Parts: sequence; structure tokens; C-alpha cells
Amino acid sequence: MAEVRFEQVSKTFPARRGGAPVEVLRQLDLTIHDGEFLVLVGPSGCGKSTLLRILAGLETPSSGEVLVGDRAVTGLRPAQRNVAMVFQSYALYPHLSVAGNIGFGLRRSRPRSVPQLLQDSLHRLSQTLPRGLRIPSPREEAISRRIATVAEQLGLTPLLDRLPKELSGGQKQRVALGRAIARQPSVFLMDEPLSNLDAKLRTGTRAQIVDLQRQLGTTTLYVTHDQVEAMTMGHRIAVLSAGRLQQLGTPMQLYNWPSNLFVAQFIGSPPMNLLPVLAVGGDQVQLGSRRFLVEGPSGQALIRYTSGAYEGAITGGLRPETLKLAPAANRNIQAEITHVEALGNEALISCRLLDGGHLVQVRGDPSQQVLPGQTVHLEIDQAGWRFFDAAGEALPLPAAARGLAEAAAEPELPNIKA
Ligand code: ADP
Ligand code: MG
Repeated sequence: MAEVRFEQVSKTFPARRGGAPVEVLRQLDLTIHDGEFLVLVGPSGCGKSTLLRILAGLETPSSGEVLVGDRAVTGLRPAQRNVAMVFQSYALYPHLSVAGNIGFGLRRSRPRSVPQLLQDSLHRLSQTLPRGLRIPSPREEAISRRIATVAEQLGLTPLLDRLPKELSGGQKQRVALGRAIARQPSVFLMDEPLSNLDAKLRTGTRAQIVDLQRQLGTTTLYVTHDQVEAMTMGHRIAVLSAGRLQQLGTPMQLYNWPSNLFVAQFIGSPPMNLLPVLAVGGDQVQLGSRRFLVEGPSGQALIRYTSGAYEGAITGGLRPETLKLAPAANRNIQAEITHVEALGNEALISCRLLDGGHLVQVRGDPSQQVLPGQTVHLEIDQAGWRFFDAAGEALPLPAAARGLAEAAAEPELPNIKA
């Protein structure tokens, strides 16, 4: 069990022929609490794998320090760091059985003397002999017990003698997981471990990984680009882009109060609708020729923003569920439906606002009968607005409102110590 800290970690890959050096991480600070499941998300190529590989010791940072517990590990070899990594490609040893793969790290983790080595080899070779002739080895027996426990936990017991090529994708995935947990590392690192599984298997394995992590309480850094994994698996999410941490918080904090336009667009599917609006003073914004009242913390942010007599163009964000089809009324806005996707439990309705022509997506009820070409009225949830300044940063919430918004559940960490 351990806390993980990245302190001012930078990574620049040297220039390839003709190219410029690639600056992947820029003075990144990030703390993963002891026992926490932290999900790292970001667009492809933003440096997620690089960050994980730096922690695993497979890559050295250009500058900065990585700590596991209170120990600086930057100078340590991968095997000395007590971290276990699960890759997208599983990376199983093809010539070893499931049992051999699960036990691999256990056999390698401690150096053995020559007589011990000999005893262990004889023990393994003698396993096919009658019981009385087998050579005992306490170490090998302990390893076998550990393999059996892990296999039981992951439902792999019937498969222990199989080779990786005789397993399905989901089973290989579980073996890779088994190899990681067998060593009881201080930290799990997982790099998009589910992306090679089909959708149904992904759901099951997702739940299994979460259960396992909560049970073991092992600090975990989990990389994904999958929305659902990001929202459902972690205690907190870290959003990485352009070499920097864009936001760190619980899934609901990021969803409800994105700190900038990047996070607003990246978290949530479909993404937040963005509209050019004018801050016109007080708690009102103008969209096209219409003014809208804004309630809640965003309304207070707006008042604070315009109280410096600053009025101007900002970006208004509305999640698809803060818009709804409503009767014709003065306060509602008119839109033409361009596309409808009925998903069974909900319908995603794309519309073009008649005033200004902006496109928005509305999360609707599938029982509403609407067709492309139809003109409808949309009601905006007055507390649903989020605002971003010209630089793309969220308008700061006043302290009182911030408390309210952030009370959106601090993550509860497991207190189980194995
Ligand atoms: P992610 O996992 O977020 O998709 P990576 O960490 O794999 O991104 O890569 C981040 C960036 O660093 C990419 O632009 C990639 O091309 C570059 N990169 C990764 N490894 C190397 C390397 N060994 N040499 C040069 N560039 C690299
Ligand atoms: Mg990657």
C-alpha cells in the first residue's frame, strides 16, 4: 500500500531525424492517495502511457521525481519498484501455462542462492514422480499456494494448465490481471486493459477490476480513453492534455463543474453544448436576441464576473440533459430538429436553433414523437448553465458557491489493508 507522487515531472523525447523534440509532459504534479483508484484520461498521444511507463520504470523522466510511499523511485529499476503493470496487449509469456504466467513475477521477485535454485528445479521436475519421491521446496510450495489463491479469485482455476493461445481474450486479460495481483504490489498500473475486449465482456471485466481493487485496496493508476470507464471506475479522474493536468476530481465534479472548455468537451457523451453568449450584467446572459436568467452557482459566478463592469462575450455550456422539449412559451427557444437517435432508454435529438443557427444536442425521452424537420421549443434549465471566459477557463465560482459545488462527494477510499 502506498501513496504515489509525481513531482514536477517533465518528459521530452529527443528529436527524430528532421523533426523537433516531442515535449510530452510538462512539470506535472499529481498525487494518487494510498488505496485510491485514479483514472487517467486524455486524447490519444497526450502522454498517458508515458506517465505510466515513467512510474513503472520503463521510461526515465527528463526532470522531476516520482515517489512511491516516501521512497523516490526515479533511480530504481522496474523490478525494485514494487509496481505491477497490466498492458492492453496482455503481454503474456506464450510458452508458459496460465499457472506459469501468474507465478512468473513471484519466481523472479527475490534472488535465490545456487542450492535454492537447484532445489526449486528438482522440486518442479519431480512433480510427476510418485509422492514419496518428490523433492520438497518451501519456496515453490508457497508460490503454488499463491497461484491457487489468485486463480480462485479470478475464476481461473480450471484453466491453470492451459497455454495463452488456448484462451479467449477475456481469459487472457484475467491471467494478465492475475500476474499483476499475485505479487501483491504497492501499486497497480493498467494501460487501457479492456480496449481489446468486446463491449459485453468489457462491462463484466470492468466490474471485476473495480471489485478487486476495492477488495485489495491497492493504489491504482488506470489509463483509458473510454468515457464509461472514466466515469464509473475511479475514485477520481485526472484529465491530461497538451502535457498538462487539465483537472483532477471526482467523476461528478468533472462532469458538473469542468474547470475549462477542454474538460467540458472531453467528459460526457454527447459532449456539453457550447454557445457564444454575452454577459450583460447581473445574472443574465444573452443568446442571439434573447436574454436568459441564470440560477445557482453559475448565476453567482456571472454576477461576480460582470460586477467589475466587465461585460462581454463568453462561452455558455449546456449539458444535453439541461435542455428539454417544451410547449411553446415566451421563455423557450425555437429550434428545428435535424436528427433523432432513439437509444431505447433515451433519445438524442440534434437541433438547430432558429435564432443564430447554433447546433445543440438534447437528451430526450424516447416516447416523445419527434421527426427531423419539425420545429420544437426548448426549455433551458436555469441552473444548467456553465460559463467559460475567452481563454477557455471556467468563470470562477464565488467561495460560498464553490463549497456547494465541490461538496459533490469527496471520494471514499477503502481502508482495508492487506
Ligand atoms: P498516449 O498513451 O496518451 O496515447 P503516449 O504516452 O504513448 O500517448 O505518447 C505520447 C507522445 O509521445 C506521442 O506523441 C508519441 O508519439 C510520443 N512518444 C511516445 N514514446 C516515444 C518514444 N519512445 N520516442 C519518441 N516519441 C515517443
Ligand atoms: Mg497509450
